[in-house]
Amino acid sequence: MKIEVTKTTNSKLASIDFDNIPLGRTFTDHMFICDYEDGKWQNPRVEPLAMIPTHPAAMALHYGQAIFEGMKSTLSRKREPLLFRPYENAARLNASAERMGMPAFPEDLFVDGLKALVSMEQDWIPPVDGSALYLRPFMYADEPFIGMRAATSYKFIIIGSPAGPFFTKPVKLWAEKHYIRAASGGTGEAKAAGNYAAAIRPTEIAKSKGYDQVLWLDAQEHAYIQEVGTMNIFFKVDGNFITPTLDGSVLHGITRKSVIDVLRHKGYTVTERKISIQEIKEAAAQGTLEEAFGTGTAVGIAHIQEIGWGDDVIPVSTEFPVGKAVNDMLNDIKTGGEDPFNWMAPV
Ligand code: PMP
Repeated sequence: MKIEVTKTTNSKLASIDFDNIPLGRTFTDHMFICDYEDGKWQNPRVEPLAMIPTHPAAMALHYGQAIFEGMKSTLSRKREPLLFRPYENAARLNASAERMGMPAFPEDLFVDGLKALVSMEQDWIPPVDGSALYLRPFMYADEPFIGMRAATSYKFIIIGSPAGPFFTKPVKLWAEKHYIRAASGGTGEAKAAGNYAAAIRPTEIAKSKGYDQVLWLDAQEHAYIQEVGTMNIFFKVDGNFITPTLDGSVLHGITRKSVIDVLRHKGYTVTERKISIQEIKEAAAQGTLEEAFGTGTAVGIAHIQEIGWGDDVIPVSTEFPVGKAVNDMLNDIKTGGEDPFNWMAPV
């Protein structure tokens, strides 16, 4: 499908202080937008970023048919914009759409839309090491209707937000015994807006106790680790890596999938299996818990320092050398270094 392009006559680019970009608050000049009407996606276009008129009965506002993706465009050393595994995000968006009763978005158009937007906004990628243009593709039901059924009209939009270098400090996790993020058969595997709404209150509680993020446990027994905040989780125990299985309640992280490949490439064993918080507590007590880290697009790899679980404080590690080496390799690939997995897509 041809993408119509309308350029802004009023770029905000010159007013941006690239040394001081507030996270998630600055948006580029344009957006990609496409409408779902009469059973098909139509009128894909890039146009100046603007407010979208929304009917007060738009179904997304009432019944929550709203899903999103998160990804980044980085600059190669030759200053060409690159995308990291964009077809993975396209496929995950469609898996989320299916779960939420929403129409699939054509994967080639997803990637072409990203490329059309990024090629217009490449000067928004901060020219500072470790920076990127954060991209937020999303889809929501905009049909005005009161009644419980799948909507018949939707919008798919991509917006961009420049992100300066992200220095991650080690994080402390609160293992949540009461609230859950996802249950078997629920929507945990979908990147659905409602999952995030339901995580806000437990995250505030964790923060009020002095922790940074929630470590989500399974819904049935409150014993098995699922993921952390908006990241997947890895542990290094006695030389080997373990990460929770994708059992239907865990988001299929693209960083997670990539980290598994990089760890194996570096010669480590990675096992996907059920991991109980009790097992992690015991490994820490025995001195075999060597590293723990979270993985996600926003931060890359975040060192986990400590886990609070009821009255227990599980110390993890003060260093995470393998996690750091994996992060360095991913950052090198993303900035045009050797790409043994063929992950990067030019724009
Ligand atoms: N889990 C959740 C709940 C998330 O929101 C994210 C961020 N998309 C992740 C894990 C990590 O996924 P990815 O590596 O694809 O960013």
